[in-house]
Amino acid sequence: MPRDGSGVSDNVAVPAPLITIAEARELVLQATAPLGVEMVAIADARDRVLAADVAAVGDVPPFPCSAMDGYALAPGEADRTLAVAGESRAGAPSTRPLGEGEAIRISTGGAIPAGATAVIPQENVEVEGESIVTRSVVHEGDHIRDKGEDMRAGTTVLRAGRVLGAAELGAAVAAGVGALTVARRPTVQVLSTGDELRAPGEPLGPGEIHNSNGPMLVALAAHQGAVTVPPGRLPDDRAATEQGLAKALQNADVVIVSGGVSVGPHDHVKPALADLGVEEVFWRVALQPGKPTWFGRRGSTLVFGLPGNPVSAVVTFSLFVRPALAALQGRAEEHPLDLEAVLATPVRRNPDREQALRVRLERRNGQLMATPNGPQGSHIVTSLLGADALALVPAGQGELEAGATVMLESLPR
Ligand code: AMP
Ligand code: MG
Repeated sequence: MPRDGSGVSDNVAVPAPLITIAEARELVLQATAPLGVEMVAIADARDRVLAADVAAVGDVPPFPCSAMDGYALAPGEADRTLAVAGESRAGAPSTRPLGEGEAIRISTGGAIPAGATAVIPQENVEVEGESIVTRSVVHEGDHIRDKGEDMRAGTTVLRAGRVLGAAELGAAVAAGVGALTVARRPTVQVLSTGDELRAPGEPLGPGEIHNSNGPMLVALAAHQGAVTVPPGRLPDDRAATEQGLAKALQNADVVIVSGGVSVGPHDHVKPALADLGVEEVFWRVALQPGKPTWFGRRGSTLVFGLPGNPVSAVVTFSLFVRPALAALQGRAEEHPLDLEAVLATPVRRNPDREQALRVRLERRNGQLMATPNGPQGSHIVTSLLGADALALVPAGQGELEAGATVMLESLPR
């Protein structure tokens, strides 16, 4: 049965119990399965999520090579005079082995010639015509990078679930790989509901406001690896809402609707979704801001109905949509953050709902301190500016005192 309290009779409104943030997130994750994989060239793999382990094709370095510009030689005492018998440059190995009484000029990355077992840096020799005089003792193995010192052929270098940043791409290329198996990116459609909404920069008529949520939710989804289609706007009209949602459901893996999920007479999202066969998983979370959050699914398509207030939309995206986008891509998730901080100021608690405060974080005396980032109303968009994280304040009476420990949740960009 839906958890929306709609199964009431005799005009007795029995409010459905609100579920916790953790319960809601668990329900989201239960409904979410990885989307599938595709191969992409290294050049297109940045920020994608690796979907298969990467093993080194060969040893890295592939051959013993020099760590210095100098001379390849045999170990020995200082003050030896050796004939320079050739050169081994990076990319152009010496064609001839090292002979008795010889040194071979070598550059960093140059292959160690057969017969040589050490390198002397050029600053430790004196050049005399076609010979060098060594000015330091040379030990076996000096300044030689061993074959396979970085990676051994066949060993796993990267595990599935990693986001591919510069280091991962560099390691994959060194491992000998030219293309990577990555998770398919979820397609996300953002829809903003409300007759009052105007596009960015448009002049406002009476009672109108700008649509902040559309661009914010697109930015958030894109930052989580989603392919975002241009955001849409739905008027507060039942038929138009249903039409817009039907189209979005056809094209997207995830539909994010903002606004219109409360209990007002102009909130058409829930009934429209029900008529479109989107099954409700939960409605309403014991969370401030974000109580009216709705989540449902049709087959593998996920639908989030986020509250209209911009801060509520961002908070509920962070807590519920972000983990879903990560799970769709098989991303090793850092949710919950499992990081705690100490409240810098007392906070009035909500008797029934956990609060997600936008906080600034700073370290004082080795302690992570969380300070609320200005007024916390769900319409105060500026409370998001410069906020480092969400701090969860448990439901309860009175105040949570300064110095109390709070759990943190990440606030994605
Ligand atoms: P609703 O959830 O539709 O009742 O909206 C709650 C509040 O959020 C109202 O004040 C709306 O005007 C505001 N709101 C709804 N959608 C947006 C949006 N896309 N951008 C900015 N504010 C919005
Ligand atoms: Mg509305």
